[in-house]
Amino acid sequence: MNATRTLGSNLLCAALAAALPFAAAAQAAQKTARARPGVIILATGGTIAGAQPKPGEAGYRSGSFSVESLIQAVPGLSQLASVSGEQIANIGSQDMNDAVWIKLARRVNEIQKDPSIAGIVVTHGTDTLEETGFFLDLVSTGPKPVVLTGSMRPATAVSADGPMNLYNAVAVAIDPEARGIGALIVMNDDVFFASEAVKTNTTSLQTFGSPNGGLAGIVNYGKFRPASPPVARRVRGGVFSDMPVPDTLPRVFIVSSHANAGTEMVDAAVAAGAKGIVLAGVGDGNGTAPLIQALSAAARKGVVVVRSSRVGSGVVARNVELDDDKLGFVAAMELNPQKARVLLQMALTRTKDVAQIQRYFEAY
Ligand code: ASP
Repeated sequence: MNATRTLGSNLLCAALAAALPFAAAAQAAQKTARARPGVIILATGGTIAGAQPKPGEAGYRSGSFSVESLIQAVPGLSQLASVSGEQIANIGSQDMNDAVWIKLARRVNEIQKDPSIAGIVVTHGTDTLEETGFFLDLVSTGPKPVVLTGSMRPATAVSADGPMNLYNAVAVAIDPEARGIGALIVMNDDVFFASEAVKTNTTSLQTFGSPNGGLAGIVNYGKFRPASPPVARRVRGGVFSDMPVPDTLPRVFIVSSHANAGTEMVDAAVAAGAKGIVLAGVGDGNGTAPLIQALSAAARKGVVVVRSSRVGSGVVARNVELDDDKLGFVAAMELNPQKARVLLQMALTRTKDVAQIQRYFEAY
């Protein structure tokens, strides 16, 4: 055997042997990087970040823990995805406002362009989760999943539901099946379209429902099963994703009807500079005669009036119990008052034309 070749091949073998662990490590790292898609959690507060002053008692304060603590509290999350967190706000969602929405939406759309990130999770209080979710659905450029989640029990509670909700939300956010189907809400193993989800119970873990539509799917310990038949993919993002997220949103109020309702709330809304009013009407979006007349007068003055219903499910269609054509109203169709308010705010950034705004509502 040629000594040089032997030495040479021995050296080569030695070099290879020395390099192997590095190569293997690099390969493993590459594999891990490939196996762990990037997720950014945008935290806004809520019960999921809530702490009880006295453990074991029902009282607690929303938005007490940082996003880092939320991430650390979820076993197995770092195996599922490469997760990082950003604190957008730390408030109870009863205090959610346009400024936080705009900040959140702009960050979501920046992340949409980041090739290292597969999906976005937003942690949020459950009180207005459905409104923020719908807002993001309307403005997110997509197609990466934007998944909102929260919890009904504070982080310090016995059997807190936040960690599993967050785990499941991250799992949905990295699932290719969740791409291009609009913003989603994950709560208690259910996956909802944010455009349809509604909070239905003050305290139950099973509080979210989708009374006018089905689930987007279910998610069990990180395994997402989309509903069948699958929903149509959106090539583009939300209806308003073709324009920059606006700097401010127009003022839109919700006015309720009830037995003996008068005109005072409509008068107050108009005096406060309302650009739009949503009627949380009785039944099929109806109200007392004085209230309807006051709303019609407001519509004639250029305030856009949308008729929705306070009953919780069903469709408010045009010209059924009321003559919307004559009264100058928009019918909210499937949207409840709080969701109708969000759509009307966004629609008003583009137009005041009642017919055009009606078309937006018919699309939902
Ligand atoms: N009030 C709380 C909030 O919306 C309730 C919750 O998160 O469940 O922030």
